[in-house]
Amino acid sequence: MNTTRTPLNQCPNCGKDIDSATGMDKGVPPNPGDLSVCLYCASFLVFNDDLSVRMITLEEVGDLAVEERSQLVMIRDEIRRNIPA
Ligand SMILES: [Zn+2]
Repeated sequence: MNTTRTPLNQCPNCGKDIDSATGMDKGVPPNPGDLSVCLYCASFLVFNDDLSVRMITLEEVGDLAVEERSQLVMIRDEIRRNIPA
């Protein structure tokens, strides 16, 4: 995994500052439209053109391939395990 700096912006769900993204694929920076998961609240996010993030829409969730969705759920569960109660 590799971490890329992104413009400072806030998670649309929890409001925490986001200024970097860690990719699943080595050496691949995030691109507009790529999926992400907030490290603080485990929300599913999508990168905008300027690499800020927005909430994924229900329609987009519906359009995900089965493997993509299960990968996101796996990441979310992993993050939730690490969120302090
Ligand atoms: Zn968040």
